[in-house]
Amino acid sequence: MNVTQSNHLDAGRITAAVDGLEQYMVDTLSRFVRCPSLPGEETSAAEFLEVELAKLGLASERIMLRTEELKDLPLYSPACCPDGGRFNVLARHEPTASTGRSVLINGHLDVVPTGPHELWTESPFAGNLHDGWVYGRGAGDMKAGLVCALAAFKALQDLGVQPAGAVGFNGVLEEENTGNGTLATVSALKSAIGAAKLASFDAVLIPEPTQEGMMASQLGVFWMYVDIVGKPAHAAYMTTGINPVDLGLRIVDAVKALEHEWNLPENRHPLYREHPHPINFNLGQIHAGDWNSSVPSVCTLGLRLSCYPDMSIEDAKLHVERRILAVEAELADDDTAISIRYEGFNAPGCVYDLDVPAMQLLAESHKQVTGKVPTRNALTATTDGRHFKLLMDLPVTCYGPIARNVHGFNESVSVESMVRVAKAYALFMVEWCGVEARRA
Ligand SMILES: [Zn+2]
Repeated sequence: MNVTQSNHLDAGRITAAVDGLEQYMVDTLSRFVRCPSLPGEETSAAEFLEVELAKLGLASERIMLRTEELKDLPLYSPACCPDGGRFNVLARHEPTASTGRSVLINGHLDVVPTGPHELWTESPFAGNLHDGWVYGRGAGDMKAGLVCALAAFKALQDLGVQPAGAVGFNGVLEEENTGNGTLATVSALKSAIGAAKLASFDAVLIPEPTQEGMMASQLGVFWMYVDIVGKPAHAAYMTTGINPVDLGLRIVDAVKALEHEWNLPENRHPLYREHPHPINFNLGQIHAGDWNSSVPSVCTLGLRLSCYPDMSIEDAKLHVERRILAVEAELADDDTAISIRYEGFNAPGCVYDLDVPAMQLLAESHKQVTGKVPTRNALTATTDGRHFKLLMDLPVTCYGPIARNVHGFNESVSVESMVRVAKAYALFMVEWCGVEARRA
């Protein structure tokens, strides 16, 4: 079979083949969720993905995370975890006769912390199916999406064919705090292309849980830590001390005032005009004190901040720093000290072109499955799409299943939605890459 004969593979046969893989998807996702791949501990999930890819006949290479080699790249984010021998998993299907266009599926392996396990209905890493939803930390964000892409590829194999263009599967580290995982793969791809060892990809799809919409843009996101030294004292003589928590809360108020200003209609980026609350300055951590009867000595704030795609991260940092310095100036005291440091996300915003052929085809594939044109989503988060757009100028978007409670308790993903998304990915692969007879 060659590309022209792909016409025999009508959409009905392809989607029926995906329907036949529903149990495969549930089983694979359940086992994937049971790899508790918290930041810095992703290896179990990476090894799991290697095995699942091998079952599809795909050999993986390990792309080691070497922060030293990434430090000078423009999209580098200051590391949060030691490299620790951790790696991305990159597999590449090569067609027998390379005639079609190629696509890279890029998904992250890491999941965010769970909070207290006892506040979940069942263990966050149980990975069980209930009423059509698979539960667990990372089920939706974003192990389900990777499973959808594997199922799309497997469905074609079950029909006796395979894509006639290269299909890459890249499982990456650290999407949730730095993006340095994808940066490592992009850096490896760029140097490999230079040495002509590996062709580039013609499009990149990221199966993040976009509720079956397509990402049209993402915000700039950065993490900031504020360390505040106060003046500790006995609580009985509290007014002789200076409480760094009080200072910290003043800083949070000042930063929140800036968040409010950036959300005002007149200050919004056009793509975010309709959004209820696009700019979110989140106080994610506050650590202070060690004794109820002492005024604390230090307080640390961990903030996640964002800005519109037309503002640089450097400019956004300056705006926020100015508000913090104003608080310091107002409450200046020789006994206190406020310092700012950056670890984690340093991720510029990005606008994606959804009117290029690859993205039009993905929208068409979704419409074939659901009867509806996919929504175009202006994301208020960051994604690894930025690396492919800003460093390689490739067509890229996020498109993935319906998930609930991502980053919250009882995270879950809809199996029906996974099946629809897998169908859209399968139809996309057939039209984008073409198909040829499956290699024996
Ligand atoms: Zn995600």
